[in-house]
Amino acid sequence: MEESETLAGFLPNVGSITVLTGAGISTDSGIPDFRGPQGVWTKDPTAEAMSTIGSYLADPDVRRRAWRSRRDHRAWDAEPNAAHTALVELERAGRLRALITQNIDGLHQRAGSGAGVVIEIHGTMRDAVCLSCGLRTPMPEVLTRVDAGEDDPPCADCGGIQKSATISFGQALDQDVLDAAIIAARECDLFLAVGTSLTVQPAAGLCLEAVERGARLVIINASETPYDGLADAVLRRPIGETLPRLAGLVLGTGR
Ligand SMILES: [Zn+2]
Repeated sequence: MEESETLAGFLPNVGSITVLTGAGISTDSGIPDFRGPQGVWTKDPTAEAMSTIGSYLADPDVRRRAWRSRRDHRAWDAEPNAAHTALVELERAGRLRALITQNIDGLHQRAGSGAGVVIEIHGTMRDAVCLSCGLRTPMPEVLTRVDAGEDDPPCADCGGIQKSATISFGQALDQDVLDAAIIAARECDLFLAVGTSLTVQPAAGLCLEAVERGARLVIINASETPYDGLADAVLRRPIGETLPRLAGLVLGTGR
């Protein structure tokens, strides 16, 4: 079909690729997204309070629920899927400039993506951080305390309130991380947005940064995005099949 011909025409020739991934890439690994029909917030609106820094700081009940939710998160048992693996292949072939992700599940690293390319703009659930002194602790260590009966484990150093090392609503993004993402968007030949609705800043703006500097834009997402009109191709097919096929076109392995 026409779209495939377009992709086959330019993908083998793109130099460096910056990828942006959202929740859609992890749903095949069994991790529900937030706002979709099966989404966490759609099914349980009170869950949103756990992701809002004001409620989290003010309400011990919210924190206790948040710790249980972290302990029970699907990501601990989830395996990376074919889409995560395809990005590892692009990286190993030297074609990946950066892998910016809105996801906090750490599945890109579990698949084998290198720390040098992964930019987690919303942080990671695999560490805990103290909101008073900034001490970072591997999350499993803190969850062991939760399992042992501490329902809101304080910082081991200063006694402060801890949370996952993610960006909650009401918290600023890490400026260094954001700068790295913007530079990666500006410096690529192809910006590939995967499984993200491109409605949340700054992720959405990264598309524009790339396109304004002449990069191609390809979007793989189940639903429409505000940037579809700017894209060289929009693919509304299952990510677990589409991304490996696209990587195959880039690498000339013809899948
Ligand atoms: Zn502390």
